[in-house]
Order: sequence, then C-alpha cells, then structure tokens
Amino acid sequence: MSLPNHLQNRWRSRRFNSFNGVLRDQFHARVYKIGLRLDFTCPNRDGKVAVGGCIYCNNTSHTAKNYQPRMSVTAQLEQGALAAQKRHQAEKFIAYFQSYSNTYDSITKLERLYYEALDFPGVVGISIATRPDCLGDGVLDLLSQLSAQTYLWLEIGLESMYDRTLAWVNRGHGLSAYIDGVSRAKARGLRVCTHLILGFPGESRAEMLATPALFNRLGIDGVKLHNLHVIKNTQLEKYYRLGQVPLFSQEQYVDLVIDFLELLNPNIVMHRLSAETYRDITVAPEWSADKRGVHNAIVKALAQRDTWQGRLFANEKNTKADRTGDACFQGAVL
Ligand code: SF4
Repeated sequence: MSLPNHLQNRWRSRRFNSFNGVLRDQFHARVYKIGLRLDFTCPNRDGKVAVGGCIYCNNTSHTAKNYQPRMSVTAQLEQGALAAQKRHQAEKFIAYFQSYSNTYDSITKLERLYYEALDFPGVVGISIATRPDCLGDGVLDLLSQLSAQTYLWLEIGLESMYDRTLAWVNRGHGLSAYIDGVSRAKARGLRVCTHLILGFPGESRAEMLATPALFNRLGIDGVKLHNLHVIKNTQLEKYYRLGQVPLFSQEQYVDLVIDFLELLNPNIVMHRLSAETYRDITVAPEWSADKRGVHNAIVKALAQRDTWQGRLFANEKNTKADRTGDACFQGAVL
C-alpha cells in the first residue's frame, strides 16, 4: 500500500499535510512565523473565570530570548525577522500573536496591534492565538475584516475535548465553548487551527483518538499537536514531582500521533506535531526538547508503517474512536 496519487501530487510524497508545504505552495518563498508577546492576559489568570492560568502554562517557554517587557509589535517583528533571515534565510513572515489570549482586550487596541503587524515589511499573514471563550462577535467581525486583507489563521486552544480534563488543568471553559466559538468563526469563513495536547492523565488512548472525529465534523482547517510536557515553574511541575503525572515515551507518542493522523481528514493542515520549548526550562520528558528529532521519528514511522494522514478517514464511521467522538459531539451544545 502506498500514498494515493492525488495526495502524492499535493504533498510531494510527504505523508501528512504539513503547514510548511502549504506555505511554500501559497507564497513560493521561505515563510517563517515570528512569535509576539504583548501585554495581554487570560480570563483564567485575571479572575474572570479563574486565577493561576492553565496548570501547564509558562509563557516564557515560547517567548523570544531577547524579548523585553512592553516591546512594541514592530520592535519584536524587527528582531524576529533579523533572526529568521540569518538562521533560515526567511523571505516572508507571519506575525504570530502567540502569548496569552490575543483577542482578550478592547477591539480598538486589538485593531491597532493587528494592523501594526500587517504594516511591517515582509509580513504576508497573521496568526492569532486565543481561547474559545474570548471570541465575541465584535472580535470575530474584526478578524473577518482582517482576513479579507491578509492570510489569517485563528488559533483556538482546546487542548482536550473532555470537560473533566479541562477542569483539572484550570482552563475555565468546556467543550461547548469551543464548539460555539469554532462554529461562529467558520460561519465568517475564518481559517481555524486548534491546539491539542495528547497525554493528559486520566485520558485513555481511545479517548484521545476520538478527537480527530470531532475536528473532522467541525471542519477545522488546521491542528497543532503537543505532547504533554512539564515546564519549570508551573503547577504541573509540582504534580509531576509528586509522581502524579505519567508521561509518554517518545515511541509511545510517535505511535499515538500516527494513529491520530490516520483518522484525521487529509485536508486538515498540520501546523505542528509535537511541543516546542526551550531545553533549559523543560523538566520532562527530555526527548520533548528535541523537536526536530521527534518530527523525524514521526516521518520515519509513517513510512515504516506505510500509512498517511487520512488513511482511515474515509471509513472512520466504523471505528470505535469515532463513535466516542460522535457521542461527545452530540452531547455538546451546538
Ligand atoms: S489560556 Fe493559554 S496563555 Fe492563558 S493560561 Fe492557558 S495556556 Fe496560558
């Protein structure tokens, strides 16, 4: 069995629909995302729905090393563009509003920051990360207006489709908020990417593998996968040190990702296959700090298993995982 011709033509023999490939096809240039950190917060940090934030979150884990508090969008893009040009010969950029909830502020402020990013030379797109409960109609209208002018991705953190897990990690929202936010974003024609973490304690393999069915049904455009990993100075680190957080080995994670990809619609763009953070603040697992190594292991295992993203998508109706996903989906507020 080998990759079907129509996918081979689209993916050039890659076995999954990679974001890098999509960017190359779209822009015919080396496009890099530049992560931004602005003075936002989150409703589960400032007391609106909770305090303390998500138990695994430490925004230092993805903040540029040379970031200084209160740096403007333009200053961060200048630094990021220089670094990406030097390291990767980047030609174009996507401004990535990454840290905290980047739609959780006044429309006036959001509009000013987003357009400042779009005005930066070489920026061809914008990616905005947020939570499902920070997607009021005013924000979605603004994003809709922006998406008519640029290549826009709305990145929504779901992390787990199980409310018991979301409560344990102190998200402060449930699956129904996610489905509501996605439905209203999709109704405006926005490209939606969802962040998901695999490996939460108490979730079975079958439960994790029910998530592709949810994404397929909702018409999600992109997925960013993370393995559960422990970062310094988080509540999760405390639980981990108490022995309450078992973590995947790299082999277990790679195997799970491949099963996940097989069930996912092949049109969904894979923005990321594993977590990415700095080695010096990673507590565990150690393998997680080598993102390139994990990526290569997944690519190799896909070839060894002679499989690809979406191989089981067509007949997913017959799988146990899909039935679980359907049950959760139907149980949520639509
Ligand atoms: S919503 Fe995002 S930024 Fe905010 S605490 Fe959770 S993971 Fe961190």
